[in-house]
Amino acid sequence: KKRPKTIGEIIQRSSEIQGDKLAVVTEDQSLSYRELEDQSDAIAANLQNRGIAKGDRVAVVVGNRAEFPLLVLACAKIGAIMVPINVKLAEEELQYIFGHSKPRIIISEVEFFHKVEKANQGAAAVSLENIFVIDGQNSYEQLLVKGGPYRQTDVGEEDGVFILYTSGTTGRPKGAVLTHINVVHSLMNYKSVFATDDTFKTLIAVPMFHVTGLVGQLLHMFYVGGTVYSMRRYQNEEYINRILEHKINFLFNVPTIFIMMSTSEEFQKHSFDFVKKVAFGGSPIYQQTFAMLKKAFPNAQLHNAYGATETTSPATLMPLDYPDSKVTSVGLPVEVGDIKIVDAEGKECPTGESGELYIKGPMIIKEYWDNPTANQSSFTDGYWHSGDLGIQDEDGFIYIRDRKKDMINRAGEKIFSIEVEDVLKAHPDVVEAAVIGEPDPVFGEKVKAFVVGPKLDAEDFSALKEHCRKSLAKFKVPEEFELIDSLPRNASGKILKNTLKTIGGKTNA
Ligand code: ATP
Repeated sequence: KKRPKTIGEIIQRSSEIQGDKLAVVTEDQSLSYRELEDQSDAIAANLQNRGIAKGDRVAVVVGNRAEFPLLVLACAKIGAIMVPINVKLAEEELQYIFGHSKPRIIISEVEFFHKVEKANQGAAAVSLENIFVIDGQNSYEQLLVKGGPYRQTDVGEEDGVFILYTSGTTGRPKGAVLTHINVVHSLMNYKSVFATDDTFKTLIAVPMFHVTGLVGQLLHMFYVGGTVYSMRRYQNEEYINRILEHKINFLFNVPTIFIMMSTSEEFQKHSFDFVKKVAFGGSPIYQQTFAMLKKAFPNAQLHNAYGATETTSPATLMPLDYPDSKVTSVGLPVEVGDIKIVDAEGKECPTGESGELYIKGPMIIKEYWDNPTANQSSFTDGYWHSGDLGIQDEDGFIYIRDRKKDMINRAGEKIFSIEVEDVLKAHPDVVEAAVIGEPDPVFGEKVKAFVVGPKLDAEDFSALKEHCRKSLAKFKVPEEFELIDSLPRNASGKILKNTLKTIGGKTNA
């Protein structure tokens, strides 16, 4: 049988094979594969009736609930490009994304409607009747109101299906355009390395609007015919209870979630011998966390997964079998991919030497949305510049060692320092500011700001936080501040962040 090449073809195939089997179970909805197919058809028709056509952007500010996967499939079927937006973003950040992606419609949960509405006004993006507010069962049914079948559109494998905004080196987020075939390749990679099939059940506790939840779990399970359980927010006890209740056998999380889970009493009380697979990625894993997972899930295969939004999730995956000597690696490059380790000049490094990872393959995005500068500087001969530093050993295994990009990785949420620095510098009493990632045992890193401001003292830190909060999502707001007389710089004036990392004086959390 023909291999599916678009997300629409994937769900059609799974619905034919799986029929009444459960596809999605959220806190308040259960959908079989057939219902998923029928309801996403209805939403597709509804979107078309609202004037959405191929190539139009559909901005979605929706958390983990049934409407999310339905919208993914509906957009994919009519060739619309879904723009799933981090629901935690502040109004100003939303405004930029609306202004840049120019959606035809915005679909928002009622919980976020206030900031969405204001951001939309600021961006002059869509008229009020083109904002659809999701507010419980009533609007769920409205979303399904169908004025006939949706019109078949010629959706090709090279067509864009998602724009996922990721932090950018210039302080403004960049919209990575994922195509159907990018996604299909990543799903093939997951299935072939993880050996997943329709006996798998996952519980999504990470957001579906990020690539791991979206591709690594949601679409991955739809591809192999498994079942997706989901939670709106990670919470230890509920997470553990649902794993036990539904005998979830596939877990895929950022390491932070596993660390939090392991601290709960509930976790220590039970056996998880039914779990077949535990994957982790999005940020580096501590060796003690790895050891904990090995003990807690005695029958599971553990897979490190390294990737990025631009690699449509996995760029390397830990294979099923590997010698113990490789446990600190992130695995092997995906089969269809190629990784080069290059020096500062872009020249390939000898095996075992550290350099930047350049990544190529059919899962790599071709472009950022409407961003010629980033498109020029982020790719060389089809290789995407990851900004991550690492080595490849003689057996091909990749080890991530450091980062070239000035980014903070807080529990998998990426924060480019410049975004926070720009906001701090806009405060009238801040002369200079530099932001670093301070090591943290649970979150991996947390945001710390060094501030130069003769008029400031420690009493002002909460006001600075408040100032940041107005323009930035909460997870980007510095948790620690330190006043400093001047920032350390090299001869050419570049701020020495590594020096700052070693300073750590009197701080205020
Ligand atoms: P998600 O957004 O769903 O968390 P992601 O982390 O794969 O997915 P991005 O948010 O784009 O995607 O972040 C990519 C960056 O995260 C990489 O460039 C790297 O710095 C870091 N990263 C991702 N996976 C790993 C890993 N397994 N080990 C170490 N660092 C990782």
